[in-house]
Amino acid sequence: MSLLELKNLSFTYGVGTAFEKKAVNDVSLTIEKGEFIGIIGHTGSGKSTLVQMLNGLIQPTSGEILLDGENIWKNPKKIRNVRFRVGMVFQYPEYQLFEETVEKDIAFGPKNMGLSQDEISKRVADSAQFVGLKPELLKKSPFELSGGEKRRAAIAGVIAMDPEILILDEPTAGLDPKGRDVLLTQIATYHKIKKNTVLLVSHSMEDISKISDRILVMNKGNMYAFDTVKNIFSKGEDLERIGLQIPQITKIMIGLAKNGYDVSTDVYTVEQALLEIFKLRKGSVYKEK
Ligand code: ADP
Repeated sequence: MSLLELKNLSFTYGVGTAFEKKAVNDVSLTIEKGEFIGIIGHTGSGKSTLVQMLNGLIQPTSGEILLDGENIWKNPKKIRNVRFRVGMVFQYPEYQLFEETVEKDIAFGPKNMGLSQDEISKRVADSAQFVGLKPELLKKSPFELSGGEKRRAAIAGVIAMDPEILILDEPTAGLDPKGRDVLLTQIATYHKIKKNTVLLVSHSMEDISKISDRILVMNKGNMYAFDTVKNIFSKGEDLERIGLQIPQITKIMIGLAKNGYDVSTDVYTVEQALLEIFKLRKGSVYKEK
């Protein structure tokens, strides 16, 4: 049985009003325990709506979400438990910090779960460490932190609930390139150590291709593709046609492959590209001998 199964999932905003808008249309897929899934698509393609359904924040207009084989809306009174199991980091989560101290903010979720004080303290310390928040910041007011630190504190608050599935909606939005790389590395490390399932929404193919096992491409509310990074990149030109940027280096490799060179096109870093080109050169040297 899969950890998460979406069956013909659809969501329409403002049903029956003049503003009716189908945001997610008939999405079916399964996600296995421990996978790292990247979700990509243009603004308005339905990514946020989709992930908000997965943690029970909004109820599908039609279709089902099965968590461990059970429809999460089977008993609407128990939807709170789903939100503990499926942790959600919203876009710009720092706007949701509200406690007197960072420590209390991170502890908010675990406290609501009814955990013991010892366990709460342990989780606050561990999750602060995961996101790289220095212990001395815990006693400060969240409003004394820098933008990047606030973001980390908000993410730590969700991690502290130890969700089986962690969903992050554009966690690097608004950060500078260095801050973005550091945060992505921390999320990748969290996944590696905890072995939990992670769903990361992004509009940057470059970002998610480095850390995802599989990528879901959304387009106009529909599931355009759901496949391994390699297979997604093999359709690089299709992605560009629907307006998604693929890394420059991938474009070069697709160009080389099109011109008859035997190179992989699932390449998204300069280092990988160099290896491919080096293999090519070695090949040609051997041929000449
Ligand atoms: P993404 O996360 O990919 O940018 P969204 O899920 O936010 O996409 O939006 C999908 C579609 O639903 C868009 O057309 C958007 O305008 C619409 N939409 C999103 N939120 C609302 C809302 N609260 N009310 C009405 N329409 C909405």
